[in-house]
Amino acid sequence: PAFENDLKAAIRAIPDYPKPGIIFRDITTLLGSARAFRRAVDELVQPWAGSKIDKIAGIEARGFIIGGAIAHQLSAGFIPIRKKGKLPHKSVRIAYSLEYGIDEMEMHEDAVTPGERVILVDDLIATGGTAEGAVKLLRQMGAEVVSAVFMVDLPELGGADKLRALGVNVRTLVS
Ligand code: 5GP
Repeated sequence: PAFENDLKAAIRAIPDYPKPGIIFRDITTLLGSARAFRRAVDELVQPWAGSKIDKIAGIEARGFIIGGAIAHQLSAGFIPIRKKGKLPHKSVRIAYSLEYGIDEMEMHEDAVTPGERVILVDDLIATGGTAEGAVKLLRQMGAEVVSAVFMVDLPELGGADKLRALGVNVRTLVS
């Protein structure tokens, strides 16, 4: 679709960040464009307009920015999924795989009630390790993960397919 090119043009590529040979997709330029930010949020929520969504779960840190906007638009609550040790209340934790190594993420144990319909949000999906961990954590707490949405997909890394294999509906805007 035409908006995909507009959004693509609003994303900046940073060569050799954070390491030599990696091209980092910098979405701060998209967030800084009123038009592009609004359009991206509108497109991500469009399939869910009018349906009952209880909570948006955003992955630290860029998933908080997009997830907050989506939560407002869908009149849903917001759940932060954070790197370990950052949440103040009793939390549940899961290990997840990164491209090189593993890390752990957490959410508050009372952040979702069993049966709540949740949409997971992050800025970008690459290998899918981060989103997979978040889906497992949410499901472990009884949430129904109705969709996972991302502004950017790096399809050659297979993350979206990995989530679909777990039975998750996936929506991305830019490949
Ligand atoms: P994955 O776990 O899918 O391999 O990596 C996705 C996670 O790493 C997301 O939380 C995302 O924010 C971050 N990430 C990895 N590569 C990039 C990138 O090129 N640009 C941005 N904005 N985030 C990235």
